[in-house]
Formats: sequence, C-alpha cells, structure tokens
Amino acid sequence: MGGAVVLCDVCGAIAKHSCKLCGKRVCDTHYDSKSGFCTSCINGRKLNK
Ligand SMILES: [Zn+2]
Ligand SMILES: [Zn+2]
Repeated sequence: MGGAVVLCDVCGAIAKHSCKLCGKRVCDTHYDSKSGFCTSCINGRKLNK
C-alpha cells in the first residue's frame, strides 16, 4: 500500500517534484517551480546556451 518515499536525487531529502526535462526526483531546494526543471538542468542549460 502506498507509501514509498521518493528521495531527492541530489541531496536525499524527500522529493516532491520530478524534473520535466531529465525526470529526476528532486526536493523543493533542487526544483525550480517556474521552469519545472531541476537545478542540475537549469545549471546545464546556462552552460550550454
Ligand atoms: Zn534536494
Ligand atoms: Zn533535470
């Protein structure tokens, strides 16, 4: 029955979000609600473009 806790792929805190780009499960700290991306993707995008 339900209850599998999903942990943030970055820091191990409880993850409430998943990145729209890479699909990582991330916590509030590592998720940007404006873009729907994780911080890793946001940092990567800045580097790429
Ligand atoms: Zn995190
Ligand atoms: Zn991502």
